[in-house]
Amino acid sequence: MTNTITEKSGRCLCGKVSYTVAAATLHHHACHCGTCRRWAGGPAFAAAVKDVSWRGDDFVRRYASSEWAERGFCGDCGTHLFFHFKPTDDYYISVGSFDDDSDFRLVGEIYVDAQPPGYRFAEGLDRLTGDEFIAKYGVAGDEAD
Ligand SMILES: [Zn+2]
Ligand SMILES: [Zn+2]
Repeated sequence: MTNTITEKSGRCLCGKVSYTVAAATLHHHACHCGTCRRWAGGPAFAAAVKDVSWRGDDFVRRYASSEWAERGFCGDCGTHLFFHFKPTDDYYISVGSFDDDSDFRLVGEIYVDAQPPGYRFAEGLDRLTGDEFIAKYGVAGDEAD
């Protein structure tokens, strides 16, 4: 299990929602799709996790961002918490919401075909279009069709 860490915790800004995950993938991607950019105010950083348990679920709001996915946020402070891919019940948690995000590494960019021209990340990252991402990982972002 390289590139994964066990027993990570995190929380929203106000602290009404917190979570622990049994495992998190430390190598993550930035998503440039239009839904992520509108949701997050810029590209979204999210890490795949296993077995997430929530505290303060009453405050977790879920928005159906497509037929196959939903996005979760704290209903009180608005912190963006997760992307949930319903067909496999997989959760991708916002990297910045972990209590310690210093172990995470950005290794690639996805939906680069939707990226606007006004910003660039460092050279050397794996860059995949939406179709390439779906073919490689079997997870569809909201803008798949
Ligand atoms: Zn909150
Ligand atoms: Zn996206």
